[in-house]
Amino acid sequence: MTEPAHRSRRSGPTPNGERAEGVDQARIEAAVREILLAVGEDPDREGLQETPARVARMYSEVFSGLHEDARVHLQKTFTQKYDEILLERDIRFDSFCEHHLLPFFGKAHVAYLPKGKIVGLSKLARAVEAFARRPQVQERMTEELADLLMDELEPRGVAVILEATHTCMTIRGIRKSDAVCTTSAMRGAFRDSQATRSELMALIYGPR
Ligand code: ZN
Repeated sequence: MTEPAHRSRRSGPTPNGERAEGVDQARIEAAVREILLAVGEDPDREGLQETPARVARMYSEVFSGLHEDARVHLQKTFTQKYDEILLERDIRFDSFCEHHLLPFFGKAHVAYLPKGKIVGLSKLARAVEAFARRPQVQERMTEELADLLMDELEPRGVAVILEATHTCMTIRGIRKSDAVCTTSAMRGAFRDSQATRSELMALIYGPR
């Protein structure tokens, strides 16, 4: 899946004059005030007066990935003969489940088998971040990352594994606080070759 080329851009000053690229903060503030009223709160009491503005700033930050094209992080590549597995383990991420707008967070393991082209390690983490910072589902985020790396690095294979805890399962609903959800997307050699996949799993989960 590729990134949409254009997204609508709305930015406007909030009552206190702040701007956030692409995010209508004043609209968020009004909506949060409505939610407070709807649950039976008094949005004008002292402790809540600043809450709508705070939440608006928070959403601007945690959904900033919506206004970022993850591809830009993978444009600067280096020619390199290295053609074995390149793995970046334990990339911490925080995202928001799009079903409940509650955080899910955990670790991403991202690997590829270069075919002459490598990218800086921090760029893999930046790509993870770009997809995490938007309303998400873990399954889609896993596949989006794998497809992005396949498209941009044209490697022999890509593997993405995400392990995450979903607060929509821990604080509400069935309240299973220690459940970890694991998703994986394998492309190219990681999908076709059992040996390559086993080597990767040993690198991620083997004894050290
Ligand atoms: Zn959820």
